[in-house]
Amino acid sequence: MSEGPGIVFLVGAGPGDPGLMTTRSLELIVAADVIVHDRLIPGGALAVAGPDAELIYVGKGPGDASVPQEGIAELLIDRARQGKLVVRLKGGDPFVFGRGGEEAEALAEAEIPFEVVPGITAGIAAPAYAGIPVTHRDDASAVAFVTGHEDPDKEDSSLDFEALARFPGTLVFYMGVKALPRIAESLIAAGREPSEPAAVVERGTLPGQRTVSSTLDGIAAAADEAEIRPPSITVVGPVAARRERIAWLERRPLHGKKVVVTRARAQASELARQLDALGAEPIELPAIRIEPRIDSREVRAAVESLHTYALVCVTSPNGARLLFEAMAEQGRDSRALANASVAAIGSGTEAALAAGGILADIVPERFVAEELVEELNKLELDGKPVLIARAAEGRELLPDALRKRGASVDEVALYETVAESPDPDALERARDADFITFTSSSTVRNFLEASSNGIPEGARVVSIGPITSEAAREAGLTVDVEAERHDIGGLVEALIVAAG
Ligand code: SAH
Repeated sequence: MSEGPGIVFLVGAGPGDPGLMTTRSLELIVAADVIVHDRLIPGGALAVAGPDAELIYVGKGPGDASVPQEGIAELLIDRARQGKLVVRLKGGDPFVFGRGGEEAEALAEAEIPFEVVPGITAGIAAPAYAGIPVTHRDDASAVAFVTGHEDPDKEDSSLDFEALARFPGTLVFYMGVKALPRIAESLIAAGREPSEPAAVVERGTLPGQRTVSSTLDGIAAAADEAEIRPPSITVVGPVAARRERIAWLERRPLHGKKVVVTRARAQASELARQLDALGAEPIELPAIRIEPRIDSREVRAAVESLHTYALVCVTSPNGARLLFEAMAEQGRDSRALANASVAAIGSGTEAALAAGGILADIVPERFVAEELVEELNKLELDGKPVLIARAAEGRELLPDALRKRGASVDEVALYETVAESPDPDALERARDADFITFTSSSTVRNFLEASSNGIPEGARVVSIGPITSEAAREAGLTVDVEAERHDIGGLVEALIVAAG
């Protein structure tokens, strides 16, 4: 809790895509003592809030028993008077149909310090993601943002349709589809061209965004036919037809594909980020969790004698990361590996070693233990001490092969992979997934153990490489796609080909 007088920030959280939140909004969410938020804010927006922040949901969705507007203003004033840093987080921009103006006035009246942080409004962002520029040199030199009553049966006295029909530019309606028939009819009755292009954008910038295009006289029926749901924005004007050429969202290689990511949460983000950038909707359903074991006597002894090994093999990025952690805990750095050759399975492992200051001497072309064994044939190992730093449940292939070559092999388990119980929400979202990705045998086994229904029906199985594929087949799955390169980049490339 902060000392002195509090302050309220009226903050726009953008239209839904977390990537469209401003730097300022994220800084303030991190710093906030209290966050008062609506329903239409990006998923994960509150994830960066401090663990002690008070999060207050005040509704504002259709059918929500929302806190009345005066109640919200009182809440903001009350918390600010307690000396708190208060963030009032709203979808889009706080001053565009967000009642931010009223809240600011109430704060001014109560002499509470406040600041306004604009956000990207849905009326610009949803059309942009649909390939519709709201202004255009040839088509529209003005744009109007319009809202009115949602109830289709009510006369809408707040809207001057004569003026809107005459408006020399694009009209953007922040209203649900329920109101669409009345809006379109009223505009046409007031003289707007029935043949004018129009488009409705549902869930703009969010996963599953959809756009329906038509003419002004056909748009209501088209939206109805497509079963468009809130939130949605309607654009009326010649610019709406530019979507035919400009639509870009749908052209991304994995557009609209739901892809289940089963790797451990700590490692899933890179894969999820790449999938997201290609237009897919990643669903994180971690099957495993990494439990470090670096405090074991075995690990301490191995770290103690690192300098005695001729060769140190590291079999996974987790192994590399935890090896450095174990070393640090015993006051050592990468110089402890100065005498050894270092071998890595996989580019991820290579990168994790590099992050700790060690450039691997040996990295097999294909990232499987068999290939590493092949590479290691080039080394003279007879009688040499070798350390394999790995998971508790690692495969026997590598130690066996090295022992056959006469090496004296020590193995050390840096971590254990344990089953993670699936999040019911994510399981539900995964039901109509297009693909499910497996990045190790343990993700296959643990996923099937945890999910009583097996893999989502209709989802194609994507495997990172032959060992994982084998585990999948053993478990009774059909592997539809196997990556040619056995790393995350290779997995994503294989997905693009399969989706194409
Ligand atoms: N302050 C917000 C608007 C709040 S009014 C802003 O600046 O964006 C709520 C209306 O905005 C919804 O009924 C819908 O018409 C529109 N809206 C909000 N988010 C949207 C989205 N992601 N896609 C389409 N329309 C959206």
